[in-house]
Amino acid sequence: MWIGWFLRILLVIVGVRAIWKFLAGIFKGVRGPGRVAPQSVPLVRDPVCGTYVVRSRAVVLRQGKQIEYFCSETCRRRFGR
Ligand SMILES: [Zn+2]
Repeated sequence: MWIGWFLRILLVIVGVRAIWKFLAGIFKGVRGPGRVAPQSVPLVRDPVCGTYVVRSRAVVLRQGKQIEYFCSETCRRRFGR
């Protein structure tokens, strides 16, 4: 008879582990997007096409004190015209 109990306990352990993994997945999912907060990545708006670009990857054009950021070289050229 003890084998029956052993199997039941094993089943419970497996079940608990499955639930734990499921919950851990949910918590990871909740925390995941929080790490990449929109505030942490400085976004700049392309004045030509209106696209938001990561500032470090943007094409920069300095006009005196004013600095413009573009998504691509094409937009930078278009802005100049
Ligand atoms: Zn653009």
